[in-house]
Amino acid sequence: MKPVQSKPKATPIYQTSVFSFEDLNELEAYFEAPANRYMYSRYGNPNSDELAQEVAQLEKAQDAVVTSSGTSAILTSVLTFCRSGDHLLCSEEIYGGSAVLLQEELSRLGIEVTFVKKEDTYSFEDYCTPQTKMFLTETMTNPLLTVHDIRRLARECHQAGLKLVIDNTFATPVITTPLTLGADLVLHSVTKYLSGHSDVTAGVIAGSNQVIKRVREIVIRYGLNLSPFDSWLASRGVKTLRLRMKQHSENAMKIAETLSNHHKVKHVYYPGLRTHPDYTLAKQQGHDLFGGMLSFQIEDDRDKVNTLFQQLEHIVFAPSLAGVQTSISHPLSTSHRSIDPEQCQKLNITEGLIRLSVGIEEYDVLEQELLHALNQL
Ligand code: PLP
Repeated sequence: MKPVQSKPKATPIYQTSVFSFEDLNELEAYFEAPANRYMYSRYGNPNSDELAQEVAQLEKAQDAVVTSSGTSAILTSVLTFCRSGDHLLCSEEIYGGSAVLLQEELSRLGIEVTFVKKEDTYSFEDYCTPQTKMFLTETMTNPLLTVHDIRRLARECHQAGLKLVIDNTFATPVITTPLTLGADLVLHSVTKYLSGHSDVTAGVIAGSNQVIKRVREIVIRYGLNLSPFDSWLASRGVKTLRLRMKQHSENAMKIAETLSNHHKVKHVYYPGLRTHPDYTLAKQQGHDLFGGMLSFQIEDDRDKVNTLFQQLEHIVFAPSLAGVQTSISHPLSTSHRSIDPEQCQKLNITEGLIRLSVGIEEYDVLEQELLHALNQL
């Protein structure tokens, strides 16, 4: 093969599990300065590093590490700050999979979790024990779009000696950069907005050099790394994140207003609506962008939910979010399926709650389709 001297504009896919060395001297040079070379893709790969650096830049972080999924990013952040015998706090309103990971799995490893009631979010002293190490929450919650005041939460956490870990999946760094507001670690399900095309499962964790050093050790030792191809795909997505978030937000704002005026819709949860309890915070913390996610409440009647879904043609029913194409989901049957039904009821996650991930399509087409479906109820 002819040696390639020209520099490609797009990063090639380094689809290799390992890198070769000329001799032992070259191997020693790797161990002396592992940041300058590659050895084994679980330890590091150019495509994963490109994605990590793009996210670090967007999140205004010193460094970042990519992981095999958002879930492994959550696991890694807990393992970064907690060991067996420790305790952590987590918002009660959180992605169902995060709650299950903490409650069902990490507790088996001796890391205890207490879920903080929504009304106690900024006054959680009574939940703390000498073993409490961190607080996990989301910038905007899934599925009800509660917005957290990260600056305030960071102040409270640091006063109590806790680290603040923020899942920034719904907001993305285009809307909020939690590290600049005092968070100690920020993580994403890259599967969602960062990759943006519903074709990758991935995660990322960003923070200071010191914390990311430990994050990297955990990812390598537990084997939580991302494949070169998935890293490449996600990195390709990140390059259009800013444009997509503007369009997602613009479409979602219009849809939220339209749904609010529809007689079959009882309530719309969208932080861009002035009626949303966190509107002022969301506007200030999100620099006038409110994101592409919203939820709305129709009658608590399973048949009506099914009718609505069946009437939709281009808007697909898919239990994920944040793709360029609009999709709809049913939190009670999907993301919050394993959560105690009483807790779901308390959180207002009921049969008639529908989550909409608004895409970047032409707005009129979306509106027509949604109105048509709602008018069939
Ligand atoms: N965090 C949030 C807010 C999510 O919505 C999800 C998945 O839906 C996750 C984390 C988990 O991400 P993944 O499915 O990539 O493991």
